[in-house]
Amino acid sequence: MITLQSVFAARERIRGIAVQTPLVPAPSLSVDGRDVRLKLEICQPTTAFKLRGAASALTALSEKQREAGVVCASTGNAGRAVAYAAKMMGARATICMSKLVPQNKLDAIAALGAETVIIGDSQDDAQQEVWRLVKDEGMAEIPPFDHADVIAGQGTIALEILEQFSEVDTLIVQLSGGGLIAGIAMAAKTINPAIRVIGVSMERGAAMAASLKAGKPVEVREEKTLADSLGGGINLNNRYTFKMAQDFVDDVVLLTEEQIARAMAHLYWREGWVTEGAGAVGAAVLLDNLSDKVGRNVALVLSGKNVDMETFHQVVSKREGAHA
Ligand SMILES: *Cc1c(COP(=O)(O)O)cnc(C)c1O
Repeated sequence: MITLQSVFAARERIRGIAVQTPLVPAPSLSVDGRDVRLKLEICQPTTAFKLRGAASALTALSEKQREAGVVCASTGNAGRAVAYAAKMMGARATICMSKLVPQNKLDAIAALGAETVIIGDSQDDAQQEVWRLVKDEGMAEIPPFDHADVIAGQGTIALEILEQFSEVDTLIVQLSGGGLIAGIAMAAKTINPAIRVIGVSMERGAAMAASLKAGKPVEVREEKTLADSLGGGINLNNRYTFKMAQDFVDDVVLLTEEQIARAMAHLYWREGWVTEGAGAVGAAVLLDNLSDKVGRNVALVLSGKNVDMETFHQVVSKREGAHA
């Protein structure tokens, strides 16, 4: 069971690795009597919130387990988080990836001090190697979302938001594997059951949204999207996040690519923040009025800014002065 207590415990453990991020006003979104604020997870040292979960999981391991090393198959924000947290703690981290992973991603992981293993032609091959290292070398896997300590770590965001904005009644949170929303929603609603939590994904390949609709974890085809950090499945044998999303999420909103681009442009031109596609999606819910569950005191998570700046520049410059 993951409880509010586990979230408080995670907060103690991750101190010194993940930072407490600012919650800042968003005047351009605070219209129609609303007070909207942005939780700047883009300010984490790895530029995304996943550091909280990785640090929580790594610090929960025994000394002996940490000495054997940790391993994961993500080359995105989760892999960066594991590499960084391991480096801060003097632990060995190995990131397994397929031959298809671009050199710049590989370099970024290596620059964080992690060992890299290149194997096979797919993410599945990389995952097989992770399981082999766990079995043969006693390493500990740090999965990206479906893990009790990871979820508790992401939940620390809710503790901070409730301290920074005690009147908050609505949380708008990215929804992919569900670690982020599960931790935040469980912690926030345990403290104040009246708080509403709205999950946001892209239309293209939203596995959790499809699973919630089906009433069980299902697979969806992965498609290219601006919100690439929201891609991927939720595991057919999901242990925690599916059930927690069922229990705690009040509404799910799906976005078009155009809406994601517009949200990125809005946050940049009107609020001055750089976000990756996944990081920006909450703004679209307000800009296009996509949920009737939104209250007056709203916090949006800007979950990350791990975006190639060429891509970012293209997206926002096509929509100069996006103040439609
Ligand atoms: C991983 C990630 C998400 C989604 O988190 P889940 O726990 O998988 O739902 C959202 N935004 C960014 C930037 C991420 O890296």
